[in-house]
Amino acid sequence: MISLQKGELLGTTLPELIIPAERVAHVQVRNNLEHALLVLTKSGYTAVPVLDPKYQLHGLISTTQIMDSILGLERIEFERLEKMVVEDVMNKIIPRLNVNDSVENGLELLVDHPFVCIENDEHVFEGILTRRSILERLNTQIKKQSKR
Ligand code: AMP
Repeated sequence: MISLQKGELLGTTLPELIIPAERVAHVQVRNNLEHALLVLTKSGYTAVPVLDPKYQLHGLISTTQIMDSILGLERIEFERLEKMVVEDVMNKIIPRLNVNDSVENGLELLVDHPFVCIENDEHVFEGILTRRSILERLNTQIKKQSKR
């Protein structure tokens, strides 16, 4: 039988599991939608964090939100991409974790979200916790246990 011991998945801390801010594709609140769409398309991610110049976290923006915001009655109004900015269409109500929160809290949020943004006490963006990083850690633990 596989059992999780303290000190294994749930004993790890968020900083050990997160993708650090400098490796996370992101956009700025005042970037136009054309730039945001470029970042999303080039990175291949469906949504990325939105930050301000002080690296504080403001929300998330996705390709679906951008496309929805330029839908006209009869056509897609691509010319609006360069006029509108990210903060006009981003999602401001997003799941967030403090860097000192527990991995259990992260696990709970990841049931409904593919990734969760992590910030410090000053709301400065520290990185993201993804389903992949939790599953990788769990997979390693299970493989170790089955060798015992
Ligand atoms: P994954 O679990 O690796 O498939 O990632 C889930 C989601 O997290 C992706 O669809 C992205 O929206 C986001 N994500 C993962 N890695 C990054 C990254 N380096 N930069 C920005 N977003 C990311």
